[in-house]
Amino acid sequence: MFVRKIEDTENIDWMEGVKKRLMIGPKDGAPTYLMRVYEIAPGTIYPLHTHNYEHEGTPLSGEGTLVGEGIEYKIQAGVVYFIPPNEPHSIINKGKEVLRLLCTSPLCAYNAMADPANKGSTS
Ligand SMILES: [Zn+2]
Repeated sequence: MFVRKIEDTENIDWMEGVKKRLMIGPKDGAPTYLMRVYEIAPGTIYPLHTHNYEHEGTPLSGEGTLVGEGIEYKIQAGVVYFIPPNEPHSIINKGKEVLRLLCTSPLCAYNAMADPANKGSTS
């Protein structure tokens, strides 16, 4: 086991207005899940996308809007969200602070993140 600070992991410029940290992944010996932290800048729309795996997460700070098909949820610290596989989703930061999200996904989400050619993808 180990403990690490969020700030001690690399913060990757993932796409315009979005930074991404891989907190725990296969290089740490995690066989099943990834834990990531996203930082979404004010005014940023994380594009609508779909994939065949789920997301589970919670905002660490800031606030935002989780958008699905015909539904929106305001999210902020103190709530958790679950996005089932194949459900379109987007996240919008309409606030004035960076929205920091702790997000878990199964390991299959790692492949897109690990390949620099996929930088900017919505995985
Ligand atoms: Zn997603």
